[in-house]
Amino acid sequence: MKKYKNVQTLLAHASIEPDQHHGFVNTPVYRGSTVAFPTCESMREGRQKYTYGRWNNPSTEALTQALQQLEGAEGTVLCPSGLSACTTAILSVVGAGDHLLIADNVYSPIRAFCEQVGQRFGIEVTFYDPTIGAGIVDFLKPNTKAIYTESPGSLTLEIQDIPAIAKVAHEHDILVITDNTWGTPLYFPSLELGVDLSIMAATKYIVGHSDAVLGTVSASKRAWDSLKRFHFNMGLFASPDDVTLALRGMRTLDVRLERHYKNATTVAKWLETREEVEAVYYPALESHPQHQLWKRDFKGASGLLSFVTKPSTQAAADALLDSLSLFSIGYSWGGFESLAMIADPKPVRSATFWEIDGHLVRLHIGLEDPSDLIEDLEQGFAKFNKLRG
Ligand SMILES: *Cc1c(COP(=O)(O)O)cnc(C)c1O
Repeated sequence: MKKYKNVQTLLAHASIEPDQHHGFVNTPVYRGSTVAFPTCESMREGRQKYTYGRWNNPSTEALTQALQQLEGAEGTVLCPSGLSACTTAILSVVGAGDHLLIADNVYSPIRAFCEQVGQRFGIEVTFYDPTIGAGIVDFLKPNTKAIYTESPGSLTLEIQDIPAIAKVAHEHDILVITDNTWGTPLYFPSLELGVDLSIMAATKYIVGHSDAVLGTVSASKRAWDSLKRFHFNMGLFASPDDVTLALRGMRTLDVRLERHYKNATTVAKWLETREEVEAVYYPALESHPQHQLWKRDFKGASGLLSFVTKPSTQAAADALLDSLSLFSIGYSWGGFESLAMIADPKPVRSATFWEIDGHLVRLHIGLEDPSDLIEDLEQGFAKFNKLRG
């Protein structure tokens, strides 16, 4: 693999091999299960680069290698969804009788996975306050195998002190897993900061166009063998079509993130000035409780933020979102378009208490002109005020 000094150049050049594809710049979509061998002997000896579609394929390999370079990882695997990347990372290093620590602000399907699958597999789980940092040491047990982090949390945007957590973890031979979907390695170089298994829901910023579902896990030296073996044994495979969309998305990751950052900052600052808004959660704002940590560890901020309305009726909060014309109401994020949803963190917490009376609104700020987004939100607040109660 060729080495690149600067990340923008890496994004534009990684895995581009025209000499392998009749001069075509992009790796074609290789759909396929069977790979033919010329002789029985060559099959027996496994003497060719590709031997079976599930194990390796030029399309999946192009993305894997590009991401591995981007992450500075020992190795990267692809999973059929972001959630399957999360569960693959966990199950690759935690088994029956082991203890797993999970941040309380975690993407909520992980909580469900632990309760409904992890428990059946004999995995002991403890949730912890995501702002605890080095205080994680008090939660360690003799059987603690891994600490699962998400920074910032994708609903409430707390930043975790990952280097402090990694230091404690490694002193006790424990692995650190992080869901790096929000920052991506461009804004949060997780492996450099001590993470062993770095997950991305590639569905979000890597694909970047809301047209495919995909997950990735990248590993440090100490976690790679377990991850590789588990991924292989589970038979996990990502569709070459989706992989090709992800590779195309990855080429423009840097320029898209830069614009998401700029637009989201503009909208977040405007939201802070609104009388209808109780609090805005966006780590790039000076008012964010872990702004200093964000400044220390992150190189930028992406397009996902949340705010809390002043106490109001449900109808007022609904009217605010229902009246928006440039924001769709929907799950997911990371595409070119703006999205909005109302979420309640209360039922998906157990170690910390969510005590805000207003409604939590999560926004994904897309690539539109931010003044148009602000105008749209402004008319939404007018509707909100009418029904506020
Ligand atoms: C969306 C998301 C996932 C899951 O990704 P899917 O591709 O939808 O399975 C995991 N973690 C975070 C933080 C997410 O936002």
